[in-house]
Amino acid sequence: MSTSDASADHDIPSGFGTRAVHAGQEPDPATGAVMTPIYQSSTFAQSAPGEHKGYEYSRVSNPTRTALEGNLAGLENAEHGIAFASGVAGIDAILKGGLRPGDHVVTTNDLYGGTFRLFKEVFEPYGLDFTFVDMTDLEATEAALRPETELLWVETPTNPLMRIADIEALCDLAAANDADVAVDNTFASPFLQQPLSLGADLVLHSATKYLGGHSDLILGAVCTDSDEWAEALRFQVKSAGASPGPMDSFLALRGTKTLHLRMERHCENARRLADFLDDHDKVGRVRYPGLASHPGHDIAARQMEDFGGMISFELTDDRIEAAKTVLSGTDVFLLAESLGGVESLIEHPASMTHASIPPEERREIGLTDSLIRLSVGVEDIDDLRTDLDRALAAV
Ligand SMILES: *Cc1c(COP(=O)(O)O)cnc(C)c1O
Repeated sequence: MSTSDASADHDIPSGFGTRAVHAGQEPDPATGAVMTPIYQSSTFAQSAPGEHKGYEYSRVSNPTRTALEGNLAGLENAEHGIAFASGVAGIDAILKGGLRPGDHVVTTNDLYGGTFRLFKEVFEPYGLDFTFVDMTDLEATEAALRPETELLWVETPTNPLMRIADIEALCDLAAANDADVAVDNTFASPFLQQPLSLGADLVLHSATKYLGGHSDLILGAVCTDSDEWAEALRFQVKSAGASPGPMDSFLALRGTKTLHLRMERHCENARRLADFLDDHDKVGRVRYPGLASHPGHDIAARQMEDFGGMISFELTDDRIEAAKTVLSGTDVFLLAESLGGVESLIEHPASMTHASIPPEERREIGLTDSLIRLSVGVEDIDDLRTDLDRALAAV
C-alpha cells in the first residue's frame, strides 16, 4: 500500500470496470481482507520518532482514504486523486491552493448553487475576482478572459439547465491565456466524461453523488496529472483539515466499484424517460443532452460516452403551482435535493435548490417557474414512467 501519494495503479488492466473494482486496492497486507478495512484510527504508532509505516495522523492521511484516492485517480485516468470531506471542500482547496488575491476566475453563469455561494460570498471578499458567463458561448468566454485570469471553472452538463460546454475548446482558450482549467465532473461521472483527456488540469467531484451512488455519504475528490497541483492540494488537506473520515472513504470506495454498472442503467432509464416526456402533452421543453433537439447534443456526443441520468423539463402550464402538483404527486420519485443515487429523485429548482436566485435573473437564464429536475435512478423503467405519468395527469 502506498502512503500519502495515491497515484493510479498502472499495473491493473485499462478497462474502466476493472479499474473501478481494483484501482488503488490490494488485499489487506495484515489479513488478506479483500475489501480495504475501515482504519478507524486517528493516529499510528511509531517504532522510533519518525519511523512509521507511512501513516502518522489521519488528518494528513489514512489507509482507507489512500485506497479511495488511488481508486479515484484510476477512474479519471489521473496521476493523483485527493479526497476531501465534501465536494465544496475540494473546490475551496483548489482556490486556496492555486490562486492569490487579485487573481481572476471565469466561470459559468448557471453554476451549482454551493459553488456560486463559495465564489461570491467567501472568496470574493478575500480578493478573488469572478466573471460569470454562458460558457456554451465561446466568444463570450474568450471576451471575459483577462491577463490576471488564472482559472476557468467549467461545469458540464450544468445544473439544472443541462447546458453542455465544449471542454476541449475551453481548454484551448485557457491555454492561450496561460490559465488552468478545472471541470466539475459531478453530473457526468468519470464513466461518461474524462476532462483530463480533453485538456483540463483539474477534475472536481462531489463524490456525494454518482461516485458514492447510494445517498449515504458526503465526500469530494480532485484528480489531476499535475504534481504541482497535487502537492498544493495535499498541503491544503494537511493544513486546513477538510479530510474525509475512514468510514465515508470506505463507503465511497464501495460505491465506485459499481459505478459503471449503475451509470449504464441511469443512462438507459434517463434516455427512455426523456423520450416519454418529450412526447407528453403536459410537458414543454425537455432538457436532456441525449435528445437530438438539445443545442449541446453534438458536443455531448463527442465528449461524453453517453448522456447521463439527469433530466430537466418544463410544463406547458409554466407556473410554480403546477410544478408543485407534479412534485407532490410522485411515489417512486422521492422529493429531495441531491442526485446521483440509486433512487430516483425529483426536485423544483425555483423553490428549492435555486430559490436564492432572484426570479427575474432565474428566468433570464432559462430557469423557468415550472422547471422540474429529475435524478433518474436505477429502478424499473415501467414503474418510473407510470409514476411520472400519474403525477403529470394531476396538473
Ligand atoms: C453537490 C454538488 C457539489 C458540491 O458537493 P458536496 O459534496 O455537496 O459538497 C458541487 N458540484 C455539483 C455539480 C454538485 O452537484
